[in-house]
Amino acid sequence: MVVIAKCRFCGGSAAYYIEHARMHLCENCFIEYYERKVYKTLVKHDMLKGARKVAVAISGGKDSVALLEVLHRITSEKFPEVELTAIHIDLGIPGYSEECRRISEDVCRKLGIECHVYDLRREEGYGIPDFQATPFKKRICGACGTVKRYLMNKIAYEIGADRLATGHNLDDVVEVLFELYLKGSVEEIVRMKPVSWSNHPKLITKIKPLIELTERENMYYVLARKLPILSTQCPLAKESRMLRRKKLIGVIEKEIPGFKHTFYKSHLKRLLPRLEKEIKEPEIRECSQCGMPTVGKTCSYCKLTTKLKQKLLNQTSTKY
Ligand code: SF4
Ligand code: ZN
Repeated sequence: MVVIAKCRFCGGSAAYYIEHARMHLCENCFIEYYERKVYKTLVKHDMLKGARKVAVAISGGKDSVALLEVLHRITSEKFPEVELTAIHIDLGIPGYSEECRRISEDVCRKLGIECHVYDLRREEGYGIPDFQATPFKKRICGACGTVKRYLMNKIAYEIGADRLATGHNLDDVVEVLFELYLKGSVEEIVRMKPVSWSNHPKLITKIKPLIELTERENMYYVLARKLPILSTQCPLAKESRMLRRKKLIGVIEKEIPGFKHTFYKSHLKRLLPRLEKEIKEPEIRECSQCGMPTVGKTCSYCKLTTKLKQKLLNQTSTKY
């Protein structure tokens, strides 16, 4: 006999199982649960306090698609003074970036949200795959992360946004924390928080409204709201350290249910407040090359890309 699980809230037939809460939910109750959770996160951390224009980083993946949809619904109802806008970076990864861009543009169009598309190859003269011919070959996701962080902040600044919302979920944050605690990188650990308030006019305040939701919950939300889902995976992600760490954390979570939530909460409530007292915020100055905020003389984006751009430029000029 097949037993159909019942929704914890309404008693109807369940569609999803929330493992850490050991709770079955039907589609409608899941949507309510998810949207309420994001709203609570926004309020708890004052993420939208005083905000006028929120730029949402949209990659086309499930997390950012879920983020744009849920922020659209919450702001329309509870924060009507907030304007939403979206930023998409076309990373120039053949067989992948085309679909990411199409989904991002489609989702924005349907919601009536302006989408600022930044084409890396056209604007900067390179694409992420070009890092494969550099010493960053084995850390390509790290290089890609630096590029995205830098450009997202720069574009958000240029379009006059006062917040930059990203789709980082609990799994992403725990994966990074896991690595940072292992290495003892305290300066970086103190930067892992739901809101990073701006301390420089060219640095936009970053918010992570999905920080308490798992990757799976975001996938359920995308399914429940019938939003588009990417059919391909980034071809450069294979065997990345980030994916291997996520797999390992998944194994721990199976053995110790609730591990991810406990780890994040211990970090946020117990360790972070103490570390913040110990670690002084670094002095921010402007990059000698691009003028964007940095702690050193040259920002990490310029350090990462100057040689690559030069090399690609030389290759093009020797062709002719
Ligand atoms: Fe960039 Fe790595 Fe994500 Fe691909 S998997 S888009 S290379 S961060
Ligand atoms: Zn720079």
